[in-house]
Amino acid sequence: MNKITNHLPTAELQAIDAAHHLHPFTTGDELTQKGARIIASAKGIYLKDSEGEEILDAMAGLWCVNIGYGRDELADVAARQMRELPYYNTFFQTSHVPAIALAQKLAELAPGDLNHVFYANGGSDANDTNIRMVRTYWAEKGQPEKKTIISRWNAYHGSTIGGTSLGGMKGMHEQGDLPIPGIEFIEQPNWWAEGGDMDPEDFGLARARELEEKILEIGEDKVAAFIAEPIQGAGGVIVAPDSYWPEIQRICDKYEILLIADEVICGFGRTGNWFGSQTLDIRPDIMTVAKGLSSGYAPIGASIVSDEVAKVLEACEFNHGYTYSGHPVACAVALENLRILEEEGILEHVQNVAAPHLAEKWKSLEDHPMVGEAKIVGLMASIALTPNKETRASFAADAGTVGYITRECCFGNNLIMRHVGDRMIISPPLVITPEEIDILIERARKSLDEAY
Ligand code: PLP
Repeated sequence: MNKITNHLPTAELQAIDAAHHLHPFTTGDELTQKGARIIASAKGIYLKDSEGEEILDAMAGLWCVNIGYGRDELADVAARQMRELPYYNTFFQTSHVPAIALAQKLAELAPGDLNHVFYANGGSDANDTNIRMVRTYWAEKGQPEKKTIISRWNAYHGSTIGGTSLGGMKGMHEQGDLPIPGIEFIEQPNWWAEGGDMDPEDFGLARARELEEKILEIGEDKVAAFIAEPIQGAGGVIVAPDSYWPEIQRICDKYEILLIADEVICGFGRTGNWFGSQTLDIRPDIMTVAKGLSSGYAPIGASIVSDEVAKVLEACEFNHGYTYSGHPVACAVALENLRILEEEGILEHVQNVAAPHLAEKWKSLEDHPMVGEAKIVGLMASIALTPNKETRASFAADAGTVGYITRECCFGNNLIMRHVGDRMIISPPLVITPEEIDILIERARKSLDEAY
């Protein structure tokens, strides 16, 4: 048997991959007919594949490589930590410096009184934690019936049983007989696709008020929490109208519903601030974080919770935790990532340089005949493609069109973008320069032209 290295011919690697590797969100046919693109290395915002092609990664991996690829500091910290203390848990009255230091740092960065960190391995299992956490919180406060969690259709909160249940992806619910009981849904604030003739702000208000209607339908004494991404990411970078979030906040306050902001994508600079909640002026009781927390260099996630939630959980024994909760290597890597984001002024770069430049260029795509609206907040952006800009018609009946552009045209032009339904989306590394943004836009426009 050949040793598997980057030096093997691509076709051979692809054949072994297709034979033995079950990929997430991929059909077997895609692997056997075309083969996976084998990524060999990466630096800055560019990937290099097994054929030596340089690919501009406009998705920062899966929305996570915020500081860009190839930062030796993180590798050095990981190696040092592995030598000093490769593993110890944080159960049963033990702790260690990386977990302590990262918790302190997250409490400093998080808004309001979100001062307490419960570690997980990624975003999905942090959301699983949240389900048990909010139900335990209300039970300990003498309201065990207050356990329903309200979410939104087309939200993405992960792939575990809990994460999939909280998410509003119907195709995912169908696989595995989900959601679990006690999860309810309201519609998403997607004006472009669902707003019809309504003014966007009226639409935003109407969609937010569905939360109130749902709470009244279930009974406020039965609703534990509302969970939402400040900006829906995997659902297509759906930016709510300005009227939406203030109304959601008002409703959560009025009915004493815990607000869980899923910051897995929006966190750590993606929207220009440390958290999307700050950009949108939301006051969550719990934030889910992962991805940009370590810029994807190590798997780690967390729930960051308020003083009040922590006080209640600490008064009982919250029987929950993962073997790798607060893994020392992941914590050390995350801490170094936060140091780089802070000391190199990467958020300031997003706010003052990258986001304004990208916004101008991104908006210019609206002059393309296939592009309806172009939306952007910080460095997450989407375009809605349409066969008719006036009616805002969808390509849904012709579902292959948008997928063809990202899979064939963008890929062929060495650009990684993704599509969801009829939206094409980007979320590049935060360190992207104006020159690199120009290259991104040039390749995106070329890909659109090829499909038109
Ligand atoms: N929540 C949001 C908003 C996400 O976008 C994701 C992943 O894309 C998750 C949760 C799940 O995180 P993970 O894949 O780290 O489990």
